[in-house]
Amino acid sequence: MSNGRFGVHGGQYISEPLMKAVLELEEAYEHYKNDPQFQTELTELYNNYAGRPSRLYYAEKMTRDLGGAKIYLKREDLNHTGSHKINNVLGQALLAKKMGKTRLIAETGAGQHGVATATAAALMGMECVVFMGEEDTKRQALNVYRMRLLGSKVVPVTSGTATLKDAVSETMREWSKRISDTHYCLGSVMGPHPFPTIVRDFQSVISKEIKQQCLEKEGRLPDAVLACVGGGSNAMGAFYHFIEDKDVQLIGCEAAGRGVTTAETAATIATGRLGIFHGMKSYFCQDEYGQIAPVYSISAGLDYPGIGPEHAWLYDTGRAQYVPVTDEEAVCAFEYLSRTEGIIPAIESAHAVSHAMKLAPTLSKDKIIVVNISGRGDKDCAAIARYRGEDIYE
Ligand SMILES: *Cc1c(COP(=O)(O)O)cnc(C)c1O
Repeated sequence: MSNGRFGVHGGQYISEPLMKAVLELEEAYEHYKNDPQFQTELTELYNNYAGRPSRLYYAEKMTRDLGGAKIYLKREDLNHTGSHKINNVLGQALLAKKMGKTRLIAETGAGQHGVATATAAALMGMECVVFMGEEDTKRQALNVYRMRLLGSKVVPVTSGTATLKDAVSETMREWSKRISDTHYCLGSVMGPHPFPTIVRDFQSVISKEIKQQCLEKEGRLPDAVLACVGGGSNAMGAFYHFIEDKDVQLIGCEAAGRGVTTAETAATIATGRLGIFHGMKSYFCQDEYGQIAPVYSISAGLDYPGIGPEHAWLYDTGRAQYVPVTDEEAVCAFEYLSRTEGIIPAIESAHAVSHAMKLAPTLSKDKIIVVNISGRGDKDCAAIARYRGEDIYE
């Protein structure tokens, strides 16, 4: 898409100093994305550091148990640092380095993107500062320690609700004050152009691999690809190379929290409206005055009040479908996949697993569905135990 527009969505709704920064970034990215040397170095990092390509695993027991479509799991949980986040972070850190930047800043919610950015900064010898809502620093103390251990500074953000959206705002403010040596390593397919495109391109290695692997194993493309959607980066990565393959159904699974008819939800497509926030036009959860509404999900990684502009466009055009999945359904899927396949998925990914459990039995046995397992679930065990009324720590 030219000008960073996806239909009416996307764009650059930002202040003048920030405009300067994104224009510099856009110019550099346009150059390096076609530079064979850059692509070779990135592939090296993916393969030798992150552990790519990730497996496409045939979930035979789950398939047999559900009695319908053949289910494959794309194992992004096996990447270094335990999720798909590293794909984007390695790409942006390498780009920043080529641009002569020596300092990375990032927002983080639960801490997954912060840890991935701190990891890339350590690897590449860059300074790193991570902005994190003060509420989240308390809830995710282990990740705060991991980031410090990796040599990063963590700055608690106290404005607003002191959570992810406030951390994004604060990181944008910091970037506009200091762009000469600093790159903002944004964590999802959101924010002003060119971020949604850059993050999507780096994550699109997921669908590139799924396509190759599915052709090798099955001699054809899958019938459906499922992924959970927070800002939408793992889903955009899993969908991208299938957008032109109209027979492949693309299904994003949103966090419905306690249900889309309650106020405690983060399902943007199901409950949101068109708006402008964090430099982009897209769908956002809003109150009656058009202010960004507080959102809720058991999964900290899906707890964002908006959705990336390219998803909003895939939704408008009908190319992708978005379905809400509740906390209870996600927790059941978390437990089911652990028991059935010996794979503990991130609670975010469990939202996609849950929809696969509903979809597979409705399809015949010659159909193939791929579920993107965006991350591993070790980080979620204490919270899920608590959800089930068991306190494993305190
Ligand atoms: C951050 C995170 C997500 C949500 O982010 P997207 O940009 O929507 O992919 C999903 N799964 C895991 C494991 C995460 O860490």
